[in-house]
Amino acid sequence: MKLAVVSLSGCLGCLSNLLELGESTFSILGQNQVVYMPFLMDRKEIAPCDVALVEGGVRDQRQLEVAEKLRESAARVISVGSCAVYGGVPGLADQFSESGLLRRSYEDHAFEGLPEGLGRLYPLDACVGVDLKMPGCPPPRALLEWVLLRLSGKGEGMPSPLPEEEITVCSQCRLECREGGATGLRSILGEQPRPGECLLEQGYVCLGPVTKGGCGAPCPGRHGVPCAGCRGPSQQVLMEASHDVSLDTLRRLVKALRVSRKELEEALPDVPHTFYPHCFAEPLLRRKRKGGTARFFRRLGETVRR
Ligand code: SF4
Ligand code: SF4
Ligand code: SF4
Repeated sequence: MKLAVVSLSGCLGCLSNLLELGESTFSILGQNQVVYMPFLMDRKEIAPCDVALVEGGVRDQRQLEVAEKLRESAARVISVGSCAVYGGVPGLADQFSESGLLRRSYEDHAFEGLPEGLGRLYPLDACVGVDLKMPGCPPPRALLEWVLLRLSGKGEGMPSPLPEEEITVCSQCRLECREGGATGLRSILGEQPRPGECLLEQGYVCLGPVTKGGCGAPCPGRHGVPCAGCRGPSQQVLMEASHDVSLDTLRRLVKALRVSRKELEEALPDVPHTFYPHCFAEPLLRRKRKGGTARFFRRLGETVRR
């Protein structure tokens, strides 16, 4: 298999994750031909290839040209990580105008030769056709490894690390739901949660109930921090055009904390960073298009077809 690996508007975290697969990475890279990977090798041109792994969304004209060239050159284009699938954390910058962003970062310095901005950040598949999407910040390593092995003709009969049915993060979380233990809205930066107990029931904003599962719930389960929803909306959220995620989460919190919704809304300081921060740039979620989010849901297939 000929492979191209590219980072657009991302942090290189997904690609670093690829390198951290250890033995598997070396065997995958060794047994296949890497034709383009600016992260590791000096090649100017993107050669024809079987698979392009793309991290990051598209914010400027240069990135758009790379994305289009990849689409022309690769039989399959794969979005790796929530930045490529939804826009990810860099999409939060869309709260500001492009000129405002430049001013915030560089004040009034004049720059020459900057690529022309597109006015906002686009998920990869808003610009070019994508064959497979692996959301997650970064996507689960086992999934990345499985996809690469399957695409390179290995791993035949290897079971998918994803659950067979669409589930939420809560379904994979082992923390125990005990009602009645919350005393108010809590922040992980301020107070440590009680171990072993559901974070939402303790008053932390955990997006587990409204987030696509498959990651194994490492954030609440292993690291003791709330789910930030990096894998994006669950099936239920996507299939209901009018589903209001913030309202849904607030209702759970209202019940757990026994406070009014108004009090809770006032206590939440930063809504864009609270509800699906990785999806802020996703056009369908942002605009709640007529016809619902079913198209978006179909685009989220993680099934590998050979
Ligand atoms: S999805 Fe997360 S790890 Fe991957 S490039 Fe974006 S910010 Fe980095
Ligand atoms: S801690 Fe979060 S993911 Fe775990 S059960 Fe509670 S709400 Fe769900
Ligand atoms: S628990 Fe939530 S934030 Fe953590 S990896 Fe899973 S989806 Fe992402």
